[in-house]
Amino acid sequence: MHPHDALSEIATLLERERSSRYKSKAFRTAADAIEGLSDAELRDAASLRRRKGIGDSTFSVIQEALAGGVPAYLADLRERAGVQRASTLRGLLRGDLHSHSDWSDGLTSIDLMVDAARALGHEYLALTDHSPRLRVANGLSPERLRAQLEIVREMSGDGFTLLSGIEVDILEDGGLDQEPELLDELDVVVASAHSKLRMERGPMTRRLVRAVSSGRVDVLGHVTGRLVEGSRGTRPPSTLDARAVFEACAENGVAVEINSRPERQDPPDELIAIALEIGCLFSIDSDAHAPGQLSLLDYGAERAENAGVPPERIVTTWPLERLREWTGRAR
Ligand SMILES: [Zn+2]
Ligand SMILES: [Zn+2]
Repeated sequence: MHPHDALSEIATLLERERSSRYKSKAFRTAADAIEGLSDAELRDAASLRRRKGIGDSTFSVIQEALAGGVPAYLADLRERAGVQRASTLRGLLRGDLHSHSDWSDGLTSIDLMVDAARALGHEYLALTDHSPRLRVANGLSPERLRAQLEIVREMSGDGFTLLSGIEVDILEDGGLDQEPELLDELDVVVASAHSKLRMERGPMTRRLVRAVSSGRVDVLGHVTGRLVEGSRGTRPPSTLDARAVFEACAENGVAVEINSRPERQDPPDELIAIALEIGCLFSIDSDAHAPGQLSLLDYGAERAENAGVPPERIVTTWPLERLREWTGRAR
């Protein structure tokens, strides 16, 4: 196998496992470092080892790939990834409405996110980097978002569409953290709360209801903010009147996100059941912060299938044209 492919696949699988971003980044950097090298250059072990961006593990991966086998590191990762079974619903998903690039807190360029989305067979991906207030995530000012829009517009083609978007912060009072006119220009608006998740039930409910009733939101992201596992530790779900929030979502045609990240599993099953009963739309999203995380959709699809969500109620099973009609509705 080609060393470049081996390094990229390792990075992708590490990202899917959500191992440390430095680890995955090391493999992506090494893949970049050997991009375009001839076979002879790759086989010159001494100069390869001195090359910037090549470390011990990436060097051995390259050597093993050149020797003609699947590098052991990659074989292990493949084996771990192989045990997951794909749901029937996963096969019906056409795209993803929530993803990040290195413009905010994602790992890679928009290019690599698009390549990975195409490789998964997605028809579309919405790029939804964070909004200004989320400084820790390098949220985009209106100026940076406008600059990003110029780039996003150029990235569609060959049966794939990169939708413009944002994951806009829901402020404490339920306001949205971006200029209204700019939100109206975007294809997809995901709105999520990232701060003050421990607000009391009444104010938290009013906060989310106001956000989804703003007429500017398509998807309500990770509804409760809970974390159930992983390196960031756990966090209980926000307390809120789910029925009131989901009724507002249904009235405004806002889809409730089923966030696929295993550490989130948000909303919890009992809330999915309420949203289902109320008649809400859903969007199964990866919330990928790296190319290899786009395939986390598998987990969200499995949860939605187990919860009995009918595919036609999931906007990401819809053809792009219908999806665009929905996001372009008088929000
Ligand atoms: Zn978020
Ligand atoms: Zn996100």
